[in-house]
Amino acid sequence: RAYNFNAGPAALPLKVLERAQAEFVDFRGTGMSIMEMSHRGAVYESVHNEAQERLLRLLGNPKGYKVLFLQGGASTQFAMIPMNFLKQGTVGSYVMTGSWADKALKEAKLFGETSIAASSKEDQYMRIPDLDHLELPDRTAYLHITSNETIEGVQFQKYPETGQVPLIADMSSDIFCRVTDVNKFGMIYAGAQKNLGPSGVTVVIAKEDKLAEQVENIPTMFRYSTFLKNNSLYNTPPSFSVYMVNEVLRWIEEEGGLTAMEQMNREKAALLYDGIDQSGGFYRGCAEPRDRSLMNITFRLASEELEKLFVKESEKEGFIGLKGHRSVGGLRASTYNAVPYESCKALADFMDVFQKQHG
Ligand code: PLP
Repeated sequence: RAYNFNAGPAALPLKVLERAQAEFVDFRGTGMSIMEMSHRGAVYESVHNEAQERLLRLLGNPKGYKVLFLQGGASTQFAMIPMNFLKQGTVGSYVMTGSWADKALKEAKLFGETSIAASSKEDQYMRIPDLDHLELPDRTAYLHITSNETIEGVQFQKYPETGQVPLIADMSSDIFCRVTDVNKFGMIYAGAQKNLGPSGVTVVIAKEDKLAEQVENIPTMFRYSTFLKNNSLYNTPPSFSVYMVNEVLRWIEEEGGLTAMEQMNREKAALLYDGIDQSGGFYRGCAEPRDRSLMNITFRLASEELEKLFVKESEKEGFIGLKGHRSVGGLRASTYNAVPYESCKALADFMDVFQKQHG
């Protein structure tokens, strides 16, 4: 298998792919693929419900929370959140930490009043802003954060205290990478294609009373209450993706849950960040060390030419996806849950050799 450091869609656990392959044509003796089944049938529904139960179990079964499976990616959530929660006279507040927070805010502006609670834009989003002095208007409907900025490579190390204001987090690129206290959040959402499974399904974990809020004048498919009332089976769900999410969650449980994921991710990230820090300036980490992401390790070399050469040479050695996002340049290694320690070790060794040759 390739050393896959893609930012998303990203590596999946080999065990999960092999299991899915084994039951791809004949799902557990039914004579059909899971993809070919009615979403109203007992077999698919049990997979669907199992995935929801597993999600909550991995989070310690928080009271009053429900799981929804939606489509349209995390990008659709950028719009659905203000559509559902930004009532007239209220304000949607945003912590500005990078490219994805920026996109979320832009969508909210299409629907109502917004405010910026804190921002690190003046530092090119290379750190998480001070969370102890958030500016929240009295009429704040929710505070939105992006727990991990996939492009810049910064991640919240602690979450803001918001009192009565519901905290909403885009966890697309770091969900289940570490132990998380869901009770701090009104809602968490994530496109599946990094830590949860293939693309095609978006997971929402939220307080049931929040999801049940009735909104008028928005289309049925954009109301959270539609999905809540119908167990995310109002229309045809992305059934194969949900099945794969269930298998990835089973793998996380078998590996030892979120505690084990966090430990492994810390070891993987340390390998690469230590390599960067000990390179005597040959490699330069982009993010402020305190706010460095466990999932997206962003770094630079002395020149764009050298960075191009790094990508080219790395591809020859079987490394995939090390080019930084086109909007910021540089280099990026995405070390999601399914990226094995061995891949990170191989990358650290490659970086060492590359420095010896070009340093
Ligand atoms: N939010 C974050 C943090 C992301 O990393 C991404 C995709 O990379 C998105 C949102 C957009 O997700 P989607 O492609 O599922 O709309």
